[in-house]
Amino acid sequence: MRNYAVIGDPVGHSRSPGMQNAAFEHYRLGSPYVKRHVRPGELGAFVEEARRTLAGFNCTVPHKSAIIPYLDEVDPKALAASSVNTVTVREDGTLAGTSTDGYGLEMALETNFGRPLAGAEVCFIGCGGAAHATSFHLAERGVRTIRLANRTLSKAEELAEKLRAANPGLAVETALPSDSDTLARWFAATDFLIQATSLGLRETDPAPFDLGLLRPGLRMAVFDTIYLDTPVLLKARQTGLPAAGGAAMLLYQGAKSFEIWTGLAAPIDAMRAGMEGNSSC
Ligand code: NAP
Repeated sequence: MRNYAVIGDPVGHSRSPGMQNAAFEHYRLGSPYVKRHVRPGELGAFVEEARRTLAGFNCTVPHKSAIIPYLDEVDPKALAASSVNTVTVREDGTLAGTSTDGYGLEMALETNFGRPLAGAEVCFIGCGGAAHATSFHLAERGVRTIRLANRTLSKAEELAEKLRAANPGLAVETALPSDSDTLARWFAATDFLIQATSLGLRETDPAPFDLGLLRPGLRMAVFDTIYLDTPVLLKARQTGLPAAGGAAMLLYQGAKSFEIWTGLAAPIDAMRAGMEGNSSC
């Protein structure tokens, strides 16, 4: 059996090996999934090796967009979002890429909050790779409005243009996260708030927006893509808003990758245990 890998720079923190190997072991297929530290300048050499030696791989930062020119086939939604996290190596060595991050977020919202996406109003704080991949998926799932707040406003505007072009009928607005008046107006009409910046990973990080805007009585559920209990999550819970961190998103994006590669049903409980038990994280 050929191996699988997650590539990133850094990659030491990745929970994917524990999670994926738990799935392979569940089916008595061994532990074929490894971490590979691949720096940006090494991506081309890695891809040539992967064509010969791997059956599939996941990409994490900073390769999700950079991998695209190396692929022989890319799912149109992943191409529009410029974000691929799952690559399948076919028997003939050709590479097919897609993104499972959006599915991961969809399932995380469903399992944590049990509210429908169709017709929902969604607000993203942060417009990096994670917001790109997941916003396209949520648009396809029928959300009515996507509001994008990002420190670099031009990135929010670029993503907004792409979303509008791909989804006629979708309402898309943009703002700076420091524009508290606009955010207050948005939050009053938001069903799901998605914290998608990298702020909150370190204790010294500033809040991604004025946390005083999280007020009792709002109808929105708060999801932070970060796995930890971030200040956003703590404040949301303190305020009485439904709130959840990124664990379920990580789990379900990995589950979808496993199913794409193997055609087998992902053993969710085993994968969750493998993800949580990975001592390198
Ligand atoms: P990315 O492409 O590097 O984007 C980072 C985002 O954070 C950008 O919007 C950036 O704004 C913003 N940001 C960074 N530093 C900032 C600062 N000092 N002030 C204000 N904004 C700042 O990263 P990504 O891949 O989108 O990942 C974002 C987060 O999602 C990470 O924490 C990652 O761990 C998480 N994630 C979780 C999962 C999961 O399965 N749970 C999957 C993917 C990602 P600018 O555009 O202005 O730079």
